[in-house]
Amino acid sequence: MNVGKVWLVGAGPGAADLLTVRASRLLAVADVVAFDELVSDEILALVNGNAERIPVGRRAHGCRHHEDDIHHLVIDRAREGRAVVRLKGGDPLVFGRGGEEAQALATAGIPFEIVPGISAALGAASALGIPLTHRECASSVTFVTAHAAGDRSTSVVSPNPSRYGTVVYYMGLGRVEATCNALMESGRRADTPGVVVSRATLPGERVVTGTIANLGLLVDRAALVAPALLIVGEVVGRRVEPSVKR
Ligand code: SAH
Repeated sequence: MNVGKVWLVGAGPGAADLLTVRASRLLAVADVVAFDELVSDEILALVNGNAERIPVGRRAHGCRHHEDDIHHLVIDRAREGRAVVRLKGGDPLVFGRGGEEAQALATAGIPFEIVPGISAALGAASALGIPLTHRECASSVTFVTAHAAGDRSTSVVSPNPSRYGTVVYYMGLGRVEATCNALMESGRRADTPGVVVSRATLPGERVVTGTIANLGLLVDRAALVAPALLIVGEVVGRRVEPSVKR
């Protein structure tokens, strides 16, 4: 039987022109596109009209897809000999569970490739004009999830090993205050600047800036919507906003 192939593709932070050229070429020729809820309509508009489109977001159509179901669905389509694009927000290997999907494909003997995407932290930093590292004040940048696998009730706020590096928290909109408190407890100064950016690079992008002492309150008042990122570090104070906003 003719086995197809799967491409695990990063869709970037949202704006269609932040896709890689390779990703947009694949969308134009794929037989099947299985996409996450984070993938924007603007990007889905690039999928060729004959492709089967399958929303597999965790909340697609009001029901939650289990990761195993997604693996089976993708593997079954590939076994039918089809070219399957598994499209994920940002980069597939940054909090995207791309590693688990790659493992499932390898175990099933399905040929696959991985196509990187611009991760939300990088898209947000450029949209806002925040250097993630800076010669004078940040020699490291750490990507952290505000949640850990298996236990969504517990705060898993990894304290930054460096007192000076930049820390970017994914999936932490509901935990901004807890995260900032944990950072202060781990030795970050209360006046360390922080920013929360919602819908970075997308229409309706919103930004709330403060310090780790007051950001939780400011974010609550602003009633921001997901997806959103928290960026903490001296670099936030070095923000130079780009003069042209797309
Ligand atoms: N693989 C993705 C991350 C998936 S986890 C990547 O590399 O970007 C989902 C989290 O990503 C969201 O909870 C949010 O923290 C962040 N995120 C994704 N898109 C975003 C956007 N446009 N603006 C702000 N945060 C975003």
